[in-house]
Amino acid sequence: MKVAVFSCKPYDKRTLTTFANDKQLSMSYFESRLSMETISLVKGFDAVSCFVNDDINAEVIQCLKQQGVKTIALRCAGFNNVDLDAAQKQGIKVFHVPDYSPTSVAEHAVALIMTLNRKTHRAYHRVKEGNFALEGLMGFNLEGKTVGCIGTGRIGAAFCRIMKGFGCRVLCYDLFPSQELIDQGCQYIALDEIYQKSDIISLHCPLNPSTHHLINKHSLEKMKDGVMIINTSRGALVHAQEAIDALYSGKIGYLGLDVYEQENKIFFEDMSSHIIQDSVFQLMLTFPNVVVTGHQGYFTIEALNHIAETTIDNLLHHQND
Ligand code: NAD
Repeated sequence: MKVAVFSCKPYDKRTLTTFANDKQLSMSYFESRLSMETISLVKGFDAVSCFVNDDINAEVIQCLKQQGVKTIALRCAGFNNVDLDAAQKQGIKVFHVPDYSPTSVAEHAVALIMTLNRKTHRAYHRVKEGNFALEGLMGFNLEGKTVGCIGTGRIGAAFCRIMKGFGCRVLCYDLFPSQELIDQGCQYIALDEIYQKSDIISLHCPLNPSTHHLINKHSLEKMKDGVMIINTSRGALVHAQEAIDALYSGKIGYLGLDVYEQENKIFFEDMSSHIIQDSVFQLMLTFPNVVVTGHQGYFTIEALNHIAETTIDNLLHHQND
């Protein structure tokens, strides 16, 4: 089977090569994303492997079919960049990697918390400048704090377990409470109570119409002054402008984001020119109590290996379906 791998970074190539070795797969790696502009590259391939920013719309799918491509193996969990109806109509199979490493994202949420509560991002810059003064760097312990987790699926559950280990009181909200987490000492309560009682709130629910801008001026009003908000889930769970207003007023004391509403534009396009065009995002970065990372929650060797292994399995096990 001949596979064209799109949006391929050097680390994707390394991990995919490791797992594809000795298997009956011939892989060709392209840095460019799959779109109508790059569709000519698929000539002669049986399958394509794509990532979140590949644009696999109906027109692209029709061309894939014409070129004899039978399989799309996504190296991500979501299908939102694929026209699944078009793929089904054309008889092209689409596979994904349902969960690559809940622990990786959960640990990244904790990393954001621990950067913010001990102000290590600011301390590091000071020390690099030869400034060892501690003024303004006073932290607080996590032990004994109340942590609210919204969404207790794979990642949220891993996050709750870690926070229990820190000696936190863990309050949860999910449409489907987990008995396992209850047995481990977590407590499910109403969403409003999460807002009222938590010192730290971490978002681990999916983005859908009911969670869009979940963190907005109304929910923020219900929270403790100086609350810490962590979002490693999807950018649009947080209303960015209203979060900025809450940073100005002190309602939000700390904000840790791995995801941002306009991230496709900011992280993937604008960053190539090293100019951030989004003024709200720019403003966000000026706050000393805000830490932002560029959607790297999943980015660990364990998760990348799992993505590569599952992608190769998807390609091999379904090639004769
Ligand atoms: P999951 O499906 O295992 O869990 C999601 C949980 O949210 C489920 O228990 C579900 O019942 C709950 N939920 C759904 N609607 C809800 C609502 N309105 N209120 C509260 N809870 C609700 O998903 P997961 O694998 O744990 O992923 C969680 C999120 O993390 C996803 O949005 C995903 O996009 C994001 N994610 C981020 C990264 C990253 O690198 N930052 C990587 C992978 C996933």
